[in-house]
Amino acid sequence: MTISKNIYRKHNYQAIIEHYKKSKSQTETGKAFNIHKTHICQILKRHGIKCLRNQSGKNNPHWKGGKIFDGHGRKIIYMPEHPYPSFCKIYVYEYRLIMEKKLGRYLTKDEVVHHIDGDHTNNAIENLQIMSQAEHLKLHGGYFIRDKVNK
Ligand SMILES: [Zn+2]
Repeated sequence: MTISKNIYRKHNYQAIIEHYKKSKSQTETGKAFNIHKTHICQILKRHGIKCLRNQSGKNNPHWKGGKIFDGHGRKIIYMPEHPYPSFCKIYVYEYRLIMEKKLGRYLTKDEVVHHIDGDHTNNAIENLQIMSQAEHLKLHGGYFIRDKVNK
């Protein structure tokens, strides 16, 4: 992290991040610390936390019963209670949930779901295959397809 000491003095970033993780809302976190929500987003980004705009469900115009999409057209599901969220600590890729439903257990951090036809938007169970990160990398010839969970 490349944050100067001056900036650290200005805000308690750790407290902001913790508050954000609990509230899941930039707007709320901003209110709590008297910081504009766009600045909250910058702080989160700087700390490697992805923030989606207007991500608190009710305020999100793209809110469709909890289903939204990431930048690659992959369906993600708002699941703050999931122990292994895919990103933002609150979203899980739908294909992971489908695989978990089939297996009757949560996927581990080392397990990834491969789309057999190469289409990451095709979440039909027949199109999904579970494998390890290493196997997946090998299969894709080293080309990295991101399907990992937050550590
Ligand atoms: Zn794959």
